[in-house]
Amino acid sequence: MTYSFTCEQGHEPVTLTVEAENDEEALQKLIEQSAPHLQAAHPEMANVPEDQAKNIIMSNWVKQ
Ligand SMILES: [Zn+2]
Repeated sequence: MTYSFTCEQGHEPVTLTVEAENDEEALQKLIEQSAPHLQAAHPEMANVPEDQAKNIIMSNWVKQ
């Protein structure tokens, strides 16, 4: 399954896409992939607790 997450908070949309077997794997991969983006574009969000980061991703992702 392909999971994509688009971040467009305060900038042009940036879409991260990962391949994963299930939600848990997708979350781990998206958190890893989004880390450089968060540090570059949203330093105030770079250190949110992992549970909160997962909620943000899950509220916004698209599964295909
Ligand atoms: Zn962003």
